[in-house]
Amino acid sequence: MSYRGRIAPTPTGYLHLGHARTFWTAHDRCKAANGTLFFRNENLDANRCKAEYQQAAIEDCRWLGIEWEGEPLNQSTRTQYYQKAFKELCETGCLYPCTCSRKDIQEALAAPHGDDGEAIYPGTCRQLVTTADNQSANWRFRVPEGEKIEFEDAHFGPQSFTCGVDFGDFPVWQKNGVPSYQLAVVVDDAEMGITEVVRGADLLISTARQLLLYRALSLTPPNFYHCELMLDEVGERLAKRNDALSLCSLRNQGKTPKELQSEWT
Ligand code: GLU
Repeated sequence: MSYRGRIAPTPTGYLHLGHARTFWTAHDRCKAANGTLFFRNENLDANRCKAEYQQAAIEDCRWLGIEWEGEPLNQSTRTQYYQKAFKELCETGCLYPCTCSRKDIQEALAAPHGDDGEAIYPGTCRQLVTTADNQSANWRFRVPEGEKIEFEDAHFGPQSFTCGVDFGDFPVWQKNGVPSYQLAVVVDDAEMGITEVVRGADLLISTARQLLLYRALSLTPPNFYHCELMLDEVGERLAKRNDALSLCSLRNQGKTPKELQSEWT
């Protein structure tokens, strides 16, 4: 099977050095395998995503020297794929509707947080069993409590996360009719025939969640390569708010793609 990779920015801000290194790694691994790289624009959050950031991400990646096949794919045009998967998960009883607000969840929580800082859902609505697929409700995936999800990461080696301990029942569908990140990514990576996902180490736990979705949807998961996160000078993770390290400001300061790449290899 030939290698198919992707880079998948979310256009909620300008790309920073951390994204650049991850995307460069994705490009590098794809090139080394003589594969095909795709660009997926993860623009499902209509309130936070902006066309301006999307355009800037494309320009920044081109400037870095990343090449991809065809036009960027917009998640916002792929609703029918997500709806189909959502329906299937409902029909097989993997999901339940959840009426808790963010505030309810915080209040119910004496419970711990997963490693990625997300509150572990205390399971208030868990007993609601239905196979109806009401798209205007929030739906969660019922995780198999206590099961260990194990996978081999091509960079960090063997990984193991425990359902209900490292993460809880996670959102799959929102009542505004938009799928969660977890569902959209699984559906897209499978439909696009991606063979290896390269992304930041902040998404290691999400990979465990996504493996549950692959299994529930009878889809074959890709391989995974998670990249080290980049830290700023005070040891904090780079975020889109670190404007000084955005690719466009580095470019304006006269940095060249070669200079950046030489720091990563
Ligand atoms: N869109 C996600 C992000 O920008 C990455 C998704 C993924 O690689 O699975 O963090």
